[in-house]
Amino acid sequence: MRVLKFGGSSLADADRFLRAADIIVNNAQQGEVSVVLSAPGKTTNKLVSVIDGALRNGEAELQIAELESSFQSLFNDIKLQLSNVDGRGYFNQVKTSLSQLRQFVHGINLLGMCPDNVNARIISKGERVSIQLMKAVLEAKGQKASLIDPVKYLLAEGEPLEAMVDVESSTENFKKSPLAEGYVHIMPGFTAGSDNGELVTLGRNGSDYSAAVLASCLRAECCEIWTDVDGVYNCDPRLVDDARLLKSLSYQEAMELSYFGASVLHPKTIAPIAQFHIPCLIKNSFNPQGEGTLIGQDTGEDKLPIKGITTLNNLVMVSVSGPGMKGMVGMASRVFGAMSSAGISIVLITQSSSEYSISFCIESADKARAEQVLAEAFDLELKNSLLEPVEFIENLSIITLVGDGMRTSKGVASRFFSSLAEVNVNIVAIAQGSSERAISAVVPEDKISEAIKACHENLFNSKHHLDIFVVGIGGVGGELVDQIQRQQAKLAEKGIVIRVCGLANSKGLLLDGNGLPLEHWRDRMNGATEGFSLARLISLVQRNHIINPVLVDCTSSETIANQYAEFLSAGFHVVTPNKKANTASMAYYHQLRNSASLSRRKFLYETTVGAGLPVIENLQNLISAGDELEKFNGILSGSLSYIFGKLDEGMTLSQATNIAKDNGFTEPDPRDDLSGMDVARKLLILARETGLSLELDQVEVEPALPPGFDVSGSIEEFMQRLPQADKYFTELSEKAAKEGKVLRYVGEILNDKCKVSLSAVDEDDPMFKIKDGENALAFYSRYYQPIPLVLRGYGAGTEVTAAGVFSDVMRTLGWKLGV
Ligand code: ADP
Ligand code: ASP
Ligand code: MG
Repeated sequence: MRVLKFGGSSLADADRFLRAADIIVNNAQQGEVSVVLSAPGKTTNKLVSVIDGALRNGEAELQIAELESSFQSLFNDIKLQLSNVDGRGYFNQVKTSLSQLRQFVHGINLLGMCPDNVNARIISKGERVSIQLMKAVLEAKGQKASLIDPVKYLLAEGEPLEAMVDVESSTENFKKSPLAEGYVHIMPGFTAGSDNGELVTLGRNGSDYSAAVLASCLRAECCEIWTDVDGVYNCDPRLVDDARLLKSLSYQEAMELSYFGASVLHPKTIAPIAQFHIPCLIKNSFNPQGEGTLIGQDTGEDKLPIKGITTLNNLVMVSVSGPGMKGMVGMASRVFGAMSSAGISIVLITQSSSEYSISFCIESADKARAEQVLAEAFDLELKNSLLEPVEFIENLSIITLVGDGMRTSKGVASRFFSSLAEVNVNIVAIAQGSSERAISAVVPEDKISEAIKACHENLFNSKHHLDIFVVGIGGVGGELVDQIQRQQAKLAEKGIVIRVCGLANSKGLLLDGNGLPLEHWRDRMNGATEGFSLARLISLVQRNHIINPVLVDCTSSETIANQYAEFLSAGFHVVTPNKKANTASMAYYHQLRNSASLSRRKFLYETTVGAGLPVIENLQNLISAGDELEKFNGILSGSLSYIFGKLDEGMTLSQATNIAKDNGFTEPDPRDDLSGMDVARKLLILARETGLSLELDQVEVEPALPPGFDVSGSIEEFMQRLPQADKYFTELSEKAAKEGKVLRYVGEILNDKCKVSLSAVDEDDPMFKIKDGENALAFYSRYYQPIPLVLRGYGAGTEVTAAGVFSDVMRTLGWKLGV
């Protein structure tokens, strides 16, 4: 005998219902089969709303009418596909059920309350309707079917809405009245009978348990739970896109997973089947060919230390504490006794080692009741200040890792907690089951999605996500998007999912929490009209529970730079070639680093100096290894490197500037380069990196133009005037040449001072050969002298800069890159 259970999701409409029937018929051809059915779709919720309606308004006609029409259309739709189906039994059931419902509503109205036994009879009506319809469908398909009445066979104890089945006595009942051979036996799930023959229910979602109990009573070979997913996943597939299907689980693992929230299986299901070693298979009625997940004696094929991550929401943590707790025998039992007598179930318990407090989680719905019973039970202690007022922390969730292998593998807890820290989840309490098979953290409910995604990414070596928002999509920003587009597939092979979720420039903004399609992104950007907004970006990230958002600022805007601190605090990494933030006030400089460290985010700006050259990271490494900068000099501007290099070859300044401008080596307005401010900013960034506390106006800047040169007017006017400066430079250059030197525009850090100026350097100087747009940076330090550490290469250009930005974006993944 095999027991097959179909959940509400597998019976929700005609197609699904018929598909379930086909699965039953196929199985029945291979051997004896019993079937347990839930109510179709969301019928039970609708029945609960009948009770709510009756209690609230004294009537529930609307809800009943809705049920009637859904039962009617389910049948009509089935009839369209199975014309010989006989609806008489079904409609009889529907009719009696609805008329009973109306009577119950009337009774509730008179009583002003709904007794539990009436509640049980109301909410179990859906299952009765399902079995009648399935019987008719099976018979229409030529399969003999008969019904099992669980009130008669399954003897249950305990609360009428949360009853537990006595398997031993129920087994006897099946022995006394055995099921006839040659039939598919259909039993409504969710219900059983009390010892005085009254219908009781087994708790919401209890049909899984009904199936397990039936399988145990019949000592079935197997209990199959047919649902709407391919089996048990390592995470709720609704919460995590790339949740992984598990091939196998031990009974204990399945029990912990379901207890801590994996709704695919009701927590009570496992005990009866484990007792009789009955294998349980979770299968998808939408994909019967799928292998499903096998739950059995041991952890099975999937020998992973961690099998799954689950969450439970809507919890409150109750803390009972006070000096009266210490060493007082029986405190815990009084606290839990009070809860148990009020019928409140405790989800998780932690106790401080000082015995000064006991904390435990209960469902939010039980809070008021808990408050009341604790106040009564500890009236005396509270009045005498032996206990502090009981504390309730609301809106909490529990996130739990489950796996048999956790007992023997080290470091799981540390990775668990660091994953939570990474997404800024504050841990309210921690508990580990004595079996070491489950470890749980109590966390704020509003962060649960981020928490589960981060744990899934870090604990299962699953895909790492990088969600990018690019602001400024001209030169470098645009090239970056193109590079990302080209690289996406390769990174995906390495398990890194990189998506561009936002594109913005001064004219428009495009956003998509699931990643924008990147084909023709420029065309679509041209149509975007919504302007850049910090708030829109932050709310999108929160709404989509994005755990690794990266703001990439490729503008030179001061306004955007001034918002980095807010972005960092809101959980974004910030990557930028924009020099404005790092050259704003020292106060803001420190604020940025504080915000980044508080929210454990990265602020990366490698490309602010030397574009793609690895300057900042090397300098940081040197400094953190204890080296000290004694002197720095360097050519930090690609355009000025080009222009002054050309002077060596006999070109005039204006000729060189014109060629540089025409080739796009300068800023659109060459005065921005010639003013020396760009070099000054880069120099300041380096100086601050070495620990100097300097403001931009403390950098001595000698512009790359003759003193007093008129820089007014339009770009054209300035360029026309520029030849007037040629003589000055030609003379300087010739003079330098006579001394075997060349002119270079150099940034220098010496004696805690920064200076940008035109210098004549001789051939021993590393700057001597630097031209054609190359950059060179010479660091003279305690370890690097008299020969300096020199970094040299192209320090400008859209492609190399974008590639540098891209590599900073990748660095936000930190250690995960090595995974
Ligand atoms: P049924 O109607 O068949 O009883 P349920 O809705 O009760 O179905 O349970 C199936 C659902 O459980 C799935 O659709 C899935 O969203 C959810 N679920 C939660 N956690 C898990 C998990 N770890 N693995 C599989 N499904 C899960
Ligand atoms: N129909 C019941 C419910 O929705 C039982 C079940 O489907 O498991 O709670
Ligand atoms: Mg279910």
